Amino acid sequence: MTEHECRACRRQDGHIVLDLDDQPACDYFPTYDDSGPDPVYPLQMWLCAHCGLAQLLEDPTTPEEPKGAEPAALVAQAADAVARVTAAGLLPAGARVAEYGSPHGGSWLDNLAGQGLKPVDDGGEADVILDCFGMMHAADQAAALAERAGRLAPGGVLLLQFHSIETILRTGQWNALRHGHFAYYSATALAAMMDSLAATSRARLSPRTAWLFDLYGGTVLLAVQRDGEGRAADGTITALRDGEERAGVTRPAAYERLQRDVRARAEALHGWLAEMKASGKSVVGYGAASRAVALLRTAGVDADLLPAVADASPGKAGTRMPGTRIPVITPAALVDRAPDAVALFVSDLLAEVRAAYPQVEAAGGQWVDADALGIDR
Ligand SMILES: [Zn+2]
Repeated sequence: MTEHECRACRRQDGHIVLDLDDQPACDYFPTYDDSGPDPVYPLQMWLCAHCGLAQLLEDPTTPEEPKGAEPAALVAQAADAVARVTAAGLLPAGARVAEYGSPHGGSWLDNLAGQGLKPVDDGGEADVILDCFGMMHAADQAAALAERAGRLAPGGVLLLQFHSIETILRTGQWNALRHGHFAYYSATALAAMMDSLAATSRARLSPRTAWLFDLYGGTVLLAVQRDGEGRAADGTITALRDGEERAGVTRPAAYERLQRDVRARAEALHGWLAEMKASGKSVVGYGAASRAVALLRTAGVDADLLPAVADASPGKAGTRMPGTRIPVITPAALVDRAPDAVALFVSDLLAEVRAAYPQVEAAGGQWVDADALGIDR
């Protein structure tokens, strides 16, 4: 393999800090009667020693990027975020807004139009640019940041929302690593990316303030201003970067525990499912999300231990979990099975699914957070 070049600063000095071995493309849901084998590809995280950006090492897959059902937690967070950014005076009525959305869905534009902002056409200059889990999908991170900065009017604000690498380390969410997601940000690495951009272009971006949300265990919304001379970052940025420094987000040593979490969580899931089976109890999964794919495969869990995973996306019923023989079923089929336990692979859905499928608990079933198994902190 040729030396990896950082997706942001182009340096070649870095380390593989997380190795999930070979994994199927997590968006590749074969039909149930497709007997496979599903192609697998190396899945590794690389940490740049120069700019500190954690990133996907290589991606030989062709992402399908299907839009899943939008979790209620994501919709609620968007409304909360728009209210908080508006209260900070960063979403003035009449401002031109552009959005770089996630291919998985979840637009804020209706919400922002409701605040009196005016959406601009593709490529047009904007006073506010919103990037909600969008930029992580760009293989060339330096180019992606330059593109956004280039569209921003002087004094304009870029709002960047990301699932932070500090959260991933703190909660042991190694299965956030997936093909198609090229960057795992910290405010620290983003600041280095902005410094590089300023050195190579006329666009000077400066972090101003940040908000934290509980989504995915810890999501950051960073407000960055273009050419806002003379204004300093506020205390939220300092606190964020201090927390990242303590967590060691730019140091390979901090990732050793994350690599140990791979085995710990895989063994805990396998052990729990084997115990449930041995005691004659039925378990069904919920959430055919990308993070479930790597977790099930790493844990060596197949249809003998987990006979089905339910998912609300209409496009996924009738498929199977990549790399396994586990069928994806509808939530209605899950309710019909009245399982003793449901392994939830997307923690943020807990409140929503408990409310949507009260029959599960009414029949004596229990929702179990699969992300928490094997995590003792
Ligand atoms: Zn770098």
